[in-house]
Amino acid sequence: MQDCIFCKIIKGEIPCSKVYEDDKVLAFNDINPQAPVHVLIVPKTHVQSIMDMNNDEYQIVSHVFKVASKIAKDMKVDEKGFRIVNNIGEDGGQTVPHVHFHLLGGRSLQWPPG
Ligand code: AMP
Ligand code: ZN
Repeated sequence: MQDCIFCKIIKGEIPCSKVYEDDKVLAFNDINPQAPVHVLIVPKTHVQSIMDMNNDEYQIVSHVFKVASKIAKDMKVDEKGFRIVNNIGEDGGQTVPHVHFHLLGGRSLQWPPG
């Protein structure tokens, strides 16, 4: 999508600090990290949120979780634990309208979230 910041990062038009890439997803460090490890895992196909996915597109969610487990191991947060977050819409706190999953770790995270 033309004006989407994550599509621009995926196309290489905006730089990112890349952590992982395959044919389906790009993962990079969040520009405003909320924890020592804060990686965004972004499907390469533009969809606003999980609410806009068709039956086939939901398969990307399981792939994202598989990639997240690999990144968690690589970044050594697998043993102490980490969190995967998917913000949806206004009340969910979504600021970038291209579906993405936050992988947060490296410190003790609070619950419930604010
Ligand atoms: P959300 O609020 O769930 O939509 O998350 C969007 C995230 O994207 C925020 O945590 C931002 O800090 C992050 N972000 C926005 N622009 C960039 C960028 N150019 N590079 C890396 N992360 C970004
Ligand atoms: Zn996009």
